Amino acid sequence: MTANPPVLKNYIGGKWVAARADQTLDVRNPATTEILAKVPLSKATDMDDAVRAAREAFPEWRKTPPIERARYFFRLKNLLEERFEDLSRTLTTEHGKTLPESRGSVKRGIECVEVATGIPSLMMGKVLEDVARGIDCEAIRRPLGVFACIAPFNFPFMVPLWFLPFAVACGNTFVVKPSEQAPMSQQDLFALLDEAGFPPGVVNLVNGAKDAAQRILEHPDIEGVSFVGSSPVAEHVYAECGKYGKRVQALGGAKNFIIIMPDANLERSVDNIAESVYGCAGERCLAGTVLVPVGDMYEPFRDKFVERARALKMGNGLDSGVELGPVISEAHKKRVLEYIETGIKEGAELLLDGRNPSVKEKGYFVGPTVFDKVKPDMVIAQEEIFGPVACLLPVKTLDDALDLIHSHDLANATSIYTTSGESARRLRYEAEPSMMGVNIGVAAPMSFFSFGGAKGSFLGDLKAHGWESIDFFTDRKVVISRWF
Ligand code: NAD
Repeated sequence: MTANPPVLKNYIGGKWVAARADQTLDVRNPATTEILAKVPLSKATDMDDAVRAAREAFPEWRKTPPIERARYFFRLKNLLEERFEDLSRTLTTEHGKTLPESRGSVKRGIECVEVATGIPSLMMGKVLEDVARGIDCEAIRRPLGVFACIAPFNFPFMVPLWFLPFAVACGNTFVVKPSEQAPMSQQDLFALLDEAGFPPGVVNLVNGAKDAAQRILEHPDIEGVSFVGSSPVAEHVYAECGKYGKRVQALGGAKNFIIIMPDANLERSVDNIAESVYGCAGERCLAGTVLVPVGDMYEPFRDKFVERARALKMGNGLDSGVELGPVISEAHKKRVLEYIETGIKEGAELLLDGRNPSVKEKGYFVGPTVFDKVKPDMVIAQEEIFGPVACLLPVKTLDDALDLIHSHDLANATSIYTTSGESARRLRYEAEPSMMGVNIGVAAPMSFFSFGGAKGSFLGDLKAHGWESIDFFTDRKVVISRWF
């Protein structure tokens, strides 16, 4: 255990400052249970300080030409690349995911910065001469003021970068409220934002939990909120933002169905599907969790999948060759184990039991788990488990698989494994989840496309990153001119 773990600071107005919190939470390395730091539960007044700093920085930042704003992000990108390995290690240490998984998500975060450096082109407006004789019309994109993001624990480094670079490159100023469960990599990110020389108040960090987040929702000087987390909290955030008149994009939970057609290339698909289920210990909003083999594919797929899952190497994500790390906390481990108990009680067949994995570390490990003969109305088929648990739900036809997808309230992502263009097109055309993979188990849109699901998995209309985020972070002002 770290002697005297540090209490994390907030970054407000270009300075690292202590929070006014009366309470802190331990931040633990989930692989070892070692305390890494204490995270303060900042108060509403800490958030007020950050919003004030952001508000004061806005007029000058807004006037900074987009090409100059972009240069701050070029500097940040270089710094992120220089510190790539350290950032990835911090991420594995705070979250538990394996080092290759951390590298992947740090890379995805950097890609958001890269795309935002294109802001002079991305932010351009439109002009039409002679909308009437001698009258011209121009549509201009303008920043709005202060935006904020409330982030989840599962991609603690990357998710704030889905928003911050786009918002700030557009000329807004920004406040991040990281997950209280995994706040370490945001400390590193803000140290680099500081080093990149962003003017004081343009970017701010406030640690904390519900209270700090609630103040974001209520604060009259915050124009819009980007939320990523569970669906019940997304619903609350969406309703509150409506009440307080804010823009909002609220990305919620998931239950993703993976269809394996009888004509799928089984040899080439199984590793990819196992990675979708067990990557990041299943703590991924794009994780495939309900596996739906169709027709004759059921038995061959089941046998190969269980064999692959059984062979996964568990351990500390920093060790080479490890494929499955721990889940985030003792409490979350308990929750996942309760789902496994529920599945057994509901009558699903436990083909691989991860409840007592043999791992040398004493962290929060749950082994790869596979349930077979899962029925659509079982709790394990309905609720987001967010752990390394696969539910096999065999069906007879693609129509049955589509019915399953349509009957679920969440619609984040789905994938199909097939060699038939016709089947793939049917899924693309008919399925509601708005992130879809064809022979790809984790269909994660790149930073120049938009990220977000449908139905209960996404509340709002403009999604994360890509071109939609430029719409989210700007107002489109229309000017109609006639000169005498
Ligand atoms: P969570 O909802 O518990 O917490 C997310 C954030 O909300 C945290 O910063 C937390 O402090 C804050 N929060 C908690 N209660 C709040 C309240 N009442 N008001 C305002 N803020 C509050 O989620 P989590 O456990 O950190 O993350 C996992 C969840 O996130 C999963 O459901 C996962 O599917 C989802 N997720 C979704 C996406 C996506 O793209 N749709 C991406 C990543 C994670």
